Amino acid sequence: MGKDYYAILGVSRQATQAEIKKAYRRLAIKYHPDRNPGDKVAEEKFKEAAEAYEILGDPEKRARYDQFGDAAFANGGGAHHYEDVNDIFRHFSDIFNDIFGGGFGGGFGERQTSYGNRARQVKGKDLRVRLKIGLEEMVRGGERKIKVRRKVRAAGTEYAVCPSCGGRGTVSRVTHTIFGPAQTHSTCRQCGGTGYVLSRRAPGSDENGLEWTEEVVTVRIPKGVREGIQLKVAQKGHEAPAPGGVAGDLYVVFEEKETPGFRIEGRDLHYILDLSLPEAVLGTAKTIDTPHGKIKINLEGPVEPGKVLRIRGKGIPEVNTDHYGDLFIHVRVHLPDKLSAEDEAYFRSKLNDRNFDVKQNRKKNFFQKIHDIFS
Ligand SMILES: [Zn+2]
Repeated sequence: MGKDYYAILGVSRQATQAEIKKAYRRLAIKYHPDRNPGDKVAEEKFKEAAEAYEILGDPEKRARYDQFGDAAFANGGGAHHYEDVNDIFRHFSDIFNDIFGGGFGGGFGERQTSYGNRARQVKGKDLRVRLKIGLEEMVRGGERKIKVRRKVRAAGTEYAVCPSCGGRGTVSRVTHTIFGPAQTHSTCRQCGGTGYVLSRRAPGSDENGLEWTEEVVTVRIPKGVREGIQLKVAQKGHEAPAPGGVAGDLYVVFEEKETPGFRIEGRDLHYILDLSLPEAVLGTAKTIDTPHGKIKINLEGPVEPGKVLRIRGKGIPEVNTDHYGDLFIHVRVHLPDKLSAEDEAYFRSKLNDRNFDVKQNRKKNFFQKIHDIFS
């Protein structure tokens, strides 16, 4: 006589597929090796339940089993005889992921061979640093080496599997409710969920065996970065507070360094070009130092104050693209604080000159443009 799979799962012969699955889940939790470390009886029951579920959980196999019992599988096609519980985790990974959630880094199918190990990976804390970037880096991108203070494993630190949770990081306890016993899981207090405790704390290290260090990290700055954009440098945060974990990430938050003469608006750059009154009147040639290099401009006199020159494609790009904004050059004319007697006499002589008459002047929107510059 073969095994009674219904009895193993504790369900009736009329049980629905849903009831069978539920019964198996209950047993899988109850006899889970992580909950019963070193318990051979529990391990056998865990394997037995998996075997039963493999048959009864499959309607086709169940029908054959109902008709012929164990003999139905005399020539194979029945249940596995699980030697290794990890085969069970692999085989029923959907159920285990279901029970324990997806946050286990790939689920049980990829867990380590020893089931006493932690079921989740511990990550170190993230770090955040600010980095001031100039216009040129925003336009061209670049590479910067920055000093980062991060915590790393101190030499001589040793860890042991947490005695409270057996390395799982969580503890389960059975509470009794009016509906019967209920199992609850919570983060292990002794290890804080890492599954490890320090067995040897190196001098100068913190409670997790980590110590401060200064490291030079190379940051690649993509062109087009702007104030507030953050860049992730993987695993350059603090190291994990337990073995087998991964370091946190380093976030570099960019800040715009002010560049005298330039103002940024969206993707566009604005530059104020100061001209003296004679330069404005007579016209001039100027060379402007821009993040794209030197740009030479010729201004034919007289130059209207408030004149705006637009140079396409000499602004800031969208991040990592060649879509550049424009450069706007605003002309501003500076008047002397004090006129010489000679200058004053000259301008007085022009007061009634028709050529300087405002009404004659076609550049009517002069004041509007001045307003635009200063607003
Ligand atoms: Zn613990």
